[in-house]
Amino acid sequence: MTRPLPHATSDTEPFWDGCKTGDLRYQICSQCNHVQIFPRSLCSSCQNRSLQWKSSGKRGRVMSYTKVHRAPTPAFRNEVPYLIALVEMDEGFRLMVNVRDSASEITIGQAVRVGFREVDGVSLPEAEACA
Ligand SMILES: [Zn+2]
Repeated sequence: MTRPLPHATSDTEPFWDGCKTGDLRYQICSQCNHVQIFPRSLCSSCQNRSLQWKSSGKRGRVMSYTKVHRAPTPAFRNEVPYLIALVEMDEGFRLMVNVRDSASEITIGQAVRVGFREVDGVSLPEAEACA
């Protein structure tokens, strides 16, 4: 069984194109300055359609995390156990990502940086603990 991977849409294509080049992109609303990820066609705060793309500094802090011991599908059987973290980025948006070294321990509030891992031709963001 192959691993499920994201498929870019017209709304998400700039995000996934950025991931290919190591650029973590997020949207900011021109009306209310709300920042968001994942990409949408309108602001999730005020519903305005005037959104701009910005590049993140790729640094944030762990808000929460979980360790997955049971693979959700057979495609993840060789990945368990792995960590998934909810990261609040310095720009204010929250990103849910896998943690690069799942053998390591992470803690809530820990500083992380976001990098990328290529899986079957798709570049996926992932968090890595900062020293
Ligand atoms: Zn807005």
